[in-house]
Amino acid sequence: MPYGYNGKILHINLTTHEIHEETPPESFYRKYLGGSAMGLYYILRETPSGVDPSAPENVLTLFAGVTTGAAISGQSRINANAKSPISGAIGDSQGGGFFPAELKFAGVDGIVIKGKSPKPVYLTILSGVYELKDAAHLMGKVTGEVDEILKKELGDNKIEILQHGPGAENGVLFSSLVSMSNRNNGRTGMGLVMASKNLKAVVVRGTKKPAIAHPKKLTELHRAGPKILPDNPDMPGMTEFGTPGVVMFQNTLGTLPTRNYNEGQFENADPISGEVMARTILKARDTCYACIVRCKRVVEISEGKHLVDAQYGGPEYETLGTFGSYCGIDDLAAISKANQICNMYGVDTIACGATIAFAMECFEKGIISTEETGGIDLRFGNPDAMLEVLDQIVKNQGKLGKVLSQGSERAAAVWGKQAEECLITVKGAEAPAHMPQAKRSLALIYAVNPFGADHQSSEHDAYYEEGVADLNLNRLKMLGLHEPQPQYSLTPEKVRFAMQGELFYSMMDSLELCQFVWGPAWTLYGPKETVEMLNAVTGWDVTVDELLLVGQRRLNLMRIYNAREGLDRKNDKLPKKFFKALQGTGPTAGVALTENEFEAALDHYYALNGWTPNGIPTRQKLVDLDLDWASEYLPA
Ligand code: SF4
Repeated sequence: MPYGYNGKILHINLTTHEIHEETPPESFYRKYLGGSAMGLYYILRETPSGVDPSAPENVLTLFAGVTTGAAISGQSRINANAKSPISGAIGDSQGGGFFPAELKFAGVDGIVIKGKSPKPVYLTILSGVYELKDAAHLMGKVTGEVDEILKKELGDNKIEILQHGPGAENGVLFSSLVSMSNRNNGRTGMGLVMASKNLKAVVVRGTKKPAIAHPKKLTELHRAGPKILPDNPDMPGMTEFGTPGVVMFQNTLGTLPTRNYNEGQFENADPISGEVMARTILKARDTCYACIVRCKRVVEISEGKHLVDAQYGGPEYETLGTFGSYCGIDDLAAISKANQICNMYGVDTIACGATIAFAMECFEKGIISTEETGGIDLRFGNPDAMLEVLDQIVKNQGKLGKVLSQGSERAAAVWGKQAEECLITVKGAEAPAHMPQAKRSLALIYAVNPFGADHQSSEHDAYYEEGVADLNLNRLKMLGLHEPQPQYSLTPEKVRFAMQGELFYSMMDSLELCQFVWGPAWTLYGPKETVEMLNAVTGWDVTVDELLLVGQRRLNLMRIYNAREGLDRKNDKLPKKFFKALQGTGPTAGVALTENEFEAALDHYYALNGWTPNGIPTRQKLVDLDLDWASEYLPA
């Protein structure tokens, strides 16, 4: 009898509307743990090389982890994977809320989706019964409306819904998958892939909680959470201010990307801070399944120029960055409105806000004019212009909206060489609000990450820099990291830190753990508790080393996928802007990454991973990881 998971994976062919169940053995679950690694197992085998991301043959996977739905904080994430329409490389995106746990309660661990339905449909998984239903009446509706219609139609307020929004139907490249109208699998365009299959939504509901091998041990760990939380220096702020609480911290350090990443300090950061949000427009703190941290923001504005509906949640730190400091905007109401619009249309706030900031820099520098903007005064600091452009983007309308709905890299290709100098993209993904000029190991991870610049694919530098708190170092020692390094460095030891942290995060993206609860440094629970939790749920005897091995499997499978699509070292590069000295004020003014240190770090990183100098896994590496089967997908 499986503990923690159902032992059931659904395979859906949308072209024929056939659905069948697979019941893999326990060894399969232990080897991949679920989530991203498990999705990659199917994608690599079942997606033809060179597939068009919008073609029916592009396999889309949705996977929870083996512990998702266990009654302990941070256990409600789901991974979406497919070839990304943004990069042509592997796409990967996590989202939280209640959908992932409910999927497990409904009786399945993951879904492998192929083909394209002749007509729009939605999939229901209701207590182990699967059905594809007509979705014609849902098309063109915003996420909140779809939620309401489906709850009424199915006569159950407790169903959980994962859907693409009208942004994807309109062809916005960076479309997300949305649940609860405010939780997103935001990055890499997974909403567009689901829309291309004529699959509007997946609806789940069930009451069968997976069995737990050692329930007493799991309860002890869960009960320890509220005692650890106030004693951990980083956690109480997450509860009180959520991720927006990071705005002022980043600004003080000079690492709040400002005016399209040209500066690291925003003179008007305070009005968009988590503290001001808590004092003014915060209506409630929300949570995900079983989580005591309750970091999610719910904001409401019922008077003034920008009305904001609480149904659509509230802006996270990244959204305050991309629509705020990136754009030089200090209007919290306008940013909250932008967040609502993105959630209504199912659009990634990072890619969208950063793309608008890119266009603002192009406008300020005269690379584009009102000719290209359709008369919009697209200067930094103009919230009305930002919202006007956003409306065009999500509808894929207007001269400017049509260009920007395809992201900044494609816009630069239209606007010419000078516009390329304004880009902050890696593999087509706009950089999140953590500055690689100061966080040098993150610079490396932004470059090498198989799906582009991502801030949640490794631990951040501060936790392995001199002056690091004892608590963090004790945890990092479990990953073999004993020697904190100087600030702003990219030493060989920092590269090792980047890699070890990346492997742990890679494992978490397969086990589907929330990275604000579980992690190798600052979080509520560390590596020791991660092992204890997994063993309590499953009855296994895994170690930290075995967890890191799963992280390696996921990364190597992604690397093979990308290599098969023609990506290698030439794609592991950073935008030119990151090698220029930061302007403005604050401790990072004048700080720059250098090409030499970056290239040396890249060489060292590939070698540590056992890959070729071109960044491709070797056959021997795959044998070492018990992934011999995948070697047939390596390029000749
Ligand atoms: S920490 Fe926040 S995002 Fe993570 S599970 Fe808890 S409420 Fe959700």
